[in-house]
Amino acid sequence: MIKYIRNKLKKIKLLNDLHSFYYSTLKPLAKRECNICGYKGFFKGFGRPLRLDARCPVCDSLERHRLLMLAISRDEIKSFLNKNASILHFAPEKIIEKIFRKKFIYYKTADLFKKADLVINIENICILDEQYDIIVANHVLEHVNDRKASAELSRILKHGGVLVCQVPIVEGWAFTYENESISSEDGRWSHFGQGDHVRFYGADFRERICEGGFELIKEYTSQGLDVIKYGLLRGEKIFIFKKK
Ligand SMILES: [Zn+2]
Repeated sequence: MIKYIRNKLKKIKLLNDLHSFYYSTLKPLAKRECNICGYKGFFKGFGRPLRLDARCPVCDSLERHRLLMLAISRDEIKSFLNKNASILHFAPEKIIEKIFRKKFIYYKTADLFKKADLVINIENICILDEQYDIIVANHVLEHVNDRKASAELSRILKHGGVLVCQVPIVEGWAFTYENESISSEDGRWSHFGQGDHVRFYGADFRERICEGGFELIKEYTSQGLDVIKYGLLRGEKIFIFKKK
């Protein structure tokens, strides 16, 4: 009988501990609003390490998707105003792809490994010069040889075309961190923040991309209340480069 009670108490303590853990570390911080699907309420956590209030439970949008759609809905990226623009979207995020397919007449997705309209290696693109008005490549460049990729992206853009991209970046670092000795997945997680990233960008990200034939024309980031309302990441940026 005593053993039974002791086991019961242990279980209750474990449940209490789990409960405390949930409330101290995992509980959503506040109700948010999804500017993509219109959901209002608590968001889910996402990522490693976990980011609270990151994912919309209805449309699965993450902070970066909501940031991009916020910028577009406010006409912050002028190129997207042209519905006749030809767009190539690398590593397409499902939620963005769905919106773009409806919005734009000429829209193609591209990926080397996942299902897409075009199977493309971003470092060596089998497309003729000057074909697209807009290229979207969010969280792609940290996975690849970005110098080769930026030259290729510039080549296939029309004169005056733009590259819209997001990357993980530490603005406090003057220089990007790369380390050729890191080759394991675990090593890349700890050094670069994800098992398939090959660098962590510093502020010189801009120059690295410009070297491929671009000029930086805009950086968009969300401000104050928008961050709170839409569950965005403070300081996260969208970079817009124009082909020179
Ligand atoms: Zn949503």
